[in-house]
Amino acid sequence: MQSKPINLGIVGVGKIVQDQHLPSIRSNSDFHLLATASRNGVVPGVAAYKTIEAMVAAEPELHAVALCMPPQYRFAAAQVALQHGLHVLLEKPPGATVSEVNELVALANGKGLSLYATWHSRHGSAVSVAKQRLASSVVQSVKLTWKEDVRKWHPGQDWIWQAGGLGVFDPGINGLSILTDVLSESMFVSSAHLEFPENRAAPIAASINFISASGKRIPAEFDWRQTGDEVWDIEFITSDGLIKISHGGGSLSVDGQLVELPESSEYCEYQAIYARFSELIQQAQSDVDLRPLQLVADAFMLAERSTVAAFTG
Ligand code: NAP
Repeated sequence: MQSKPINLGIVGVGKIVQDQHLPSIRSNSDFHLLATASRNGVVPGVAAYKTIEAMVAAEPELHAVALCMPPQYRFAAAQVALQHGLHVLLEKPPGATVSEVNELVALANGKGLSLYATWHSRHGSAVSVAKQRLASSVVQSVKLTWKEDVRKWHPGQDWIWQAGGLGVFDPGINGLSILTDVLSESMFVSSAHLEFPENRAAPIAASINFISASGKRIPAEFDWRQTGDEVWDIEFITSDGLIKISHGGGSLSVDGQLVELPESSEYCEYQAIYARFSELIQQAQSDVDLRPLQLVADAFMLAERSTVAAFTG
């Protein structure tokens, strides 16, 4: 625990800030929310600025920022923060391109600041348990399925359909963040097929064939046209049976039998994120794993594309 709280600024006060960051910050005495920078969003009782430039100029006591705006706007804000000597937490995905995040790593290292690229799904209660089980099994094959209804989960989010918004990979990268964490070997894109609505710049669905370093095929399906319940699953056929991570990292089964997991709350992922951010700042370290973003970038690079029916939200 910190002796003095870390004075935090939030940039981009929107859905995920209201749902997760605010309750998680309030429950962590290592942090004090000092200010926000957002064109429209505010947090009652907290100093509010329209831009990060205005916030850092007016708040010399700030130590760190959490950048929660869409990925296309994260790099510019992160540069401002790091240049002002602030530690930086990046929402997922950490940026719009791999190379811009590498630039931030260099900037943070040069200034001795902590840069933290968060992957909230890695903190789901099933993930570390699954990782342990997989480490003691022989994995024979893997399948990832990430399907949800875009109208339910992303209503009115125009940025997500624009270039750099990632489309169906905005949720799909959560699955890749889990898979790259629990799989004990590297994986690469072997082939990919992306479906773009004729009126949008980002894919609504994707089929990717990944291949692991040892040659295992890893088919992955991502689809935003799902109706009914979402499917956020990763299945591993192993020497110890079918190990299945479901609910985006929230549950685990082996051969259909649910595995008992440590008790968790709806805020456990973001509470773990803020605990880790505090630890990184105290230890003067950064944590930036770009593998999930690199895989998505590679899928865009290698994919065949088709145009499908226009999407109207
Ligand atoms: P959001 O509510 O649509 O956007 C967050 C805030 O960013 C907005 O309220 C807006 O604040 C600001 N913003 C929007 N467009 C902008 C633009 N063109 N330029 C500058 N600022 C802009 O999005 P969100 O759902 O919170 O997601 C934000 C990030 O968190 C995304 O990277 C997403 O992948 C990640 N995330 C989301 C969820 C979720 O469940 N929603 C879960 C985990 C992670 P102002 O208008 O006040 O500036």
